[in-house]
Amino acid sequence: MGSEADPPTATPLTGGCGCGAVRWELSELPIGCAYCHCTRCRRRTGTSVSMTALARADTFTITAGEGSISAWRPETGWHKHFCGECGSALFTTNPEDDSLIGMRMGGFDEDPGVRPAFHQFTAYAPAWAPVPDDGLPRFEERVDYAKLAEEARRDAG
Ligand SMILES: [Zn+2]
Ligand SMILES: [Zn+2]
Repeated sequence: MGSEADPPTATPLTGGCGCGAVRWELSELPIGCAYCHCTRCRRRTGTSVSMTALARADTFTITAGEGSISAWRPETGWHKHFCGECGSALFTTNPEDDSLIGMRMGGFDEDPGVRPAFHQFTAYAPAWAPVPDDGLPRFEERVDYAKLAEEARRDAG
């Protein structure tokens, strides 16, 4: 993942929410990113698709506004953290694997250097926003991010 990205951006990468209450840093570049067309992303973003970058959780630090962060914690799946002041999507965490974190692409201040590698949950794309024919792999259901990260590490190694 990320092989077509521009030259790496300087680290730490910074980002935050729309109102500025919450700020964060990543000490290393993300592993990769992808499009998600699931129903939950549609509801929580108010639009058809979400872009999320996968990063190692131990590279992530909240630098301001931790007390302003709220989360949607569905019974299954990743926990969706957002700014409780302005509603901006921030990041997502897996209650079953705390080694990885999903950073919402819109939160980065600068280009994080990764480009989308695939589309997931394409079976749920709404009729009013079909999955674009951009040549990327498509998966009807969830993609195992941890497995992809492991493959990316193997490729890099
Ligand atoms: Zn905010
Ligand atoms: Zn989704």
